[in-house]
Amino acid sequence: MKLALISIDGNGVYNLKHMPFLSELAEEGHYFVVDSIFPTLTDLVHTTVMTGVEPRIHWVVENGYYDRLSGVRVKFYEYEVAFNPHRVIKAPLIQDLLRQKGVRIASVSGYTMPPFSNVDVRIFPPFFSGDELYRKHGRDWKKDIWVLNSALYLYEECKPDLLLIHFASVDGMQHDHGPESKGALKAVETVDSAIRTLWERLKREYAFIIFADHGQEEVHTWVNLREYLKSHGIEVLRISSGGGVHVYLKDPNESEDAYLLLRRAPGVKAVFFREDLPHLNAPVSGDLIVSAKEGYWFCHHRECRGIKGKSYWVKGMHGSLNEKVLRVPLIIWGLDVKRDEATLYDIAPTILEFFGIQKRAEMKGISLI
Ligand SMILES: [Zn+2]
Repeated sequence: MKLALISIDGNGVYNLKHMPFLSELAEEGHYFVVDSIFPTLTDLVHTTVMTGVEPRIHWVVENGYYDRLSGVRVKFYEYEVAFNPHRVIKAPLIQDLLRQKGVRIASVSGYTMPPFSNVDVRIFPPFFSGDELYRKHGRDWKKDIWVLNSALYLYEECKPDLLLIHFASVDGMQHDHGPESKGALKAVETVDSAIRTLWERLKREYAFIIFADHGQEEVHTWVNLREYLKSHGIEVLRISSGGGVHVYLKDPNESEDAYLLLRRAPGVKAVFFREDLPHLNAPVSGDLIVSAKEGYWFCHHRECRGIKGKSYWVKGMHGSLNEKVLRVPLIIWGLDVKRDEATLYDIAPTILEFFGIQKRAEMKGISLI
């Protein structure tokens, strides 16, 4: 038996009611509603799933990470990182362990996705070719037709033991149009029927693990925390963007003051000291980590001038701890699952167990089979 691992970026559990095929598969197999990992961001969650260890160990504490000592932002969107995942990821990927044992792996992803690299065969999106469709993360459901065709090609030509597939358009369309909008549902339906096509073709040889990294929530207002803190006399080195952000203070001794100020800031639901979030307690994390209130996101791009404003160009967001973002599906089909509860951390040990390989001690989860 072989295994297909499918990630549907941004596919919160609320989308399942719009996915007749995935619902069928969930009913026939094993269906868990699991929590994403805070801050609920694509790179952080995929790296966690593919290493099985906490972000404090693999260091991808947001989309990439920021190294405050060198002042360098390490991004997943760079050419060198896309093909050399361990320039960013400080823990072994499961494919590093599997390939040592002769397991053959192929992958295709809707964007650069370093955690899906280090495989035997990879079909890479024309991300660095200047093609607009691929430059923008997600943003178009047609891209997932390309992902489907690439996955079918990998199956037909390579018959890998482990096939990794990442669909990106549900996330992109939700950012642009909002979750459960007409545009987002077009992507949701496209991915649902793509998975049906894959399953029809592969079901005699493959078991399936299907998950999402996070959901999304509707947003109407952006807040610039850098400007907010500055207006109260506190300077920051950097703040990431999204629904859950790291705050790197120029002077870490001001973290108590910044904590109190941020708790009163517009759009803020929760503020944490890095030490209070053990899974994120890495040297590359911010001094403080902030989660947004429903309807808000934190923007530190050039277009967000002032302390807050109307988010007319971004309609959906993730990163926060809010329910809609946090709850994601984990569907397992074709495997003998022995447990009633699961987490995203269990995926790595399950895949290793499937191929008869012992998990590493640092891995947080337990095999589901
Ligand atoms: Zn996203």
